[in-house]
Amino acid sequence: AINRNLQDIAGKVNVSFEFFPPKTAQMEQTLWQSIERLAPLAPSFVSVTYGANSGERDRTHDIIKSIKQRTGLIAAPHLTCVDASKDELVAIAKDYWQSGIRHIVALRGDLPAGSIGKPDLYAVDLVHILRSVADFDISVAAYPEVHPEAPNGQFDLLNLKRKVDAGASRAITQFFFDIEKFLRYRDRCAAIGIDVDIIPGILPVTNFTQLQKFAGLTNVAIPQWMYKAYDGLEHDATTRNLVGVNIAMEMVKVLSREGVDHFHFYTLNRSELSYAICHLLGVRPAIAA
Ligand code: FAD
Repeated sequence: AINRNLQDIAGKVNVSFEFFPPKTAQMEQTLWQSIERLAPLAPSFVSVTYGANSGERDRTHDIIKSIKQRTGLIAAPHLTCVDASKDELVAIAKDYWQSGIRHIVALRGDLPAGSIGKPDLYAVDLVHILRSVADFDISVAAYPEVHPEAPNGQFDLLNLKRKVDAGASRAITQFFFDIEKFLRYRDRCAAIGIDVDIIPGILPVTNFTQLQKFAGLTNVAIPQWMYKAYDGLEHDATTRNLVGVNIAMEMVKVLSREGVDHFHFYTLNRSELSYAICHLLGVRPAIAA
């Protein structure tokens, strides 16, 4: 039944891939190998994250420009507003528009450690600013398990609605492992009138130790069965990769059957696992005529 289902959906699935700016020459080489491997799968877009450290925006921008030039893909920079003034953001948006960038992933960004009080700008403000500059295609973040700072789930859901009402065309979720939580969240989005795609962010897990640290910060639950799955593999990267790809494949199979037709992959700049999952989904390189 699983095979028949996957065949049914073959060719109807969209994918997108997320990368981050590399910090060393070797990491840069890995990034480009990954982009070259994944580009023939014709993703709807690829995105590059943005960190708050100085110089990071330039690095994000440089990679975005190179991806556009080298692959012709739609390349979307992430942009955060927590560390910039409104005037700076307007200037950045104008600069992006002038360099032919039409799609931006608009985020608030994480608050600096020890910061007190409310930030001046939230992601919804950034969406308004981008819209005031030009007709950008805007993606925003969504949290099936509720953003850690939100007072409650309903507030967070309404926050997503405000971002969509301000002009976002899609939401990409935080990664998750509990499919039910995603499906319930998607239903709640529909129930309050959010009519854009809620695209699941898929993280194929290769480093379970790192995941445990990160999941705690982001309010993402790691189910007990995952602890069991990775138990004893601390020094066995090959088996961890196989386990990671298997878990992510199971997730996309179920989500596909639930009507999901776009998956966003947190690649961590590696291609192998995302490529394998795409292959199973029927997302394959176009065969030259
Ligand atoms: P918002 O939508 O502004 O929400 C932030 C929090 O504030 C939520 O809890 C919300 O409920 C609450 N809130 C909203 N409005 C108000 C208000 N008026 N008063 C009080 N509370 C309010 N981070 C990076 O630094 N760089 C990246 O490249 C990056 N990429 C990401 C990509 C994706 C797909 C995702 C899911 C996250 C990404 N992040 C990135 C992390 C993100 O920046 C953090 O999760 C951040 O803490 C929240 O950003 P946001 O855009 O969701 O913020």
